[in-house]
Amino acid sequence: MNKIIIEARVNELATRKGNPHVPFLPHEIIADAKACYDEGAAIVHFHGRTADGAPDHDPGFYLETNAGIRAQSDILIHPTLGYVANDTDAKGRFAAIEEMMKAPETAPDFAPMDTGSVNVDWWNPEAGRYDTTDLIYKNSTATLMYFAERIRHHGLTPYLVSWNVSFTRQIEQFLKMGVLSQPAYICFCMTDEIIFAGHPGTTAGLDAHTTFLPAGFDTVWTVVNYKGDLFELSEKIIREGGHISIGLGDYAYRDGPRHLTNAEVIAKIVAQARALGREPATVAETREILNMPEKQIAA
Ligand code: ZN
Repeated sequence: MNKIIIEARVNELATRKGNPHVPFLPHEIIADAKACYDEGAAIVHFHGRTADGAPDHDPGFYLETNAGIRAQSDILIHPTLGYVANDTDAKGRFAAIEEMMKAPETAPDFAPMDTGSVNVDWWNPEAGRYDTTDLIYKNSTATLMYFAERIRHHGLTPYLVSWNVSFTRQIEQFLKMGVLSQPAYICFCMTDEIIFAGHPGTTAGLDAHTTFLPAGFDTVWTVVNYKGDLFELSEKIIREGGHISIGLGDYAYRDGPRHLTNAEVIAKIVAQARALGREPATVAETREILNMPEKQIAA
């Protein structure tokens, strides 16, 4: 069986109410990145946060965090563009990555592209209503083509996030146009509990994603379950040759009453993958699977 790429999604916008181990500040993310790497993660994904957990998309946050991660391991760095917390034009959304690309020690390896637009309002299950009613995650075709061009320019790898089949179909058109090169690394985003913009985190939800993988193109796929327990699907993903993106950013993982750390979540998924015959891919093996280019650092 092929090796499995494990990505640690350490914080997203998760609070510490569900799990107190969610890292917010650079030194906390740096420590988690190393601990997850030591357990077998090849990629780390994180969001800038303030000490009280609010989104912090200041480029300085990413420069400090990336440099700290780089100093401790060669884990591949996948930052965010800020999601809906950075709702500006295409250039503004990519500005922090441009800053990161100015030096090798702060340069990431991936930049994300969510290849479509969705309503991402927060459902309040206790109250039975939406807490927000106008949150749109907007990614126009022009914006995506701009991101793809900058990603190629910098020698980064696009991390293609598909929330539903229409996102995957846009990826297919970009592959036809040569806007994206192969293999395309596609993250199937499932969503549950408080957000419904992705497919449900069920076998049917996952099958609907994988059924529409662009035919005739070289693709590699991973799966996220945002606000759902990915362990309910992980055996299926591992057996079907998919990859896994998991962490406390998505779900407040526990073992009985005990809150797991990000590193413990990674250790648990690595153990399951090994038991099913798939070794975790090292960073070098991940680079090879994804045919990652040489980064172009600005002078
Ligand atoms: Zn994220």
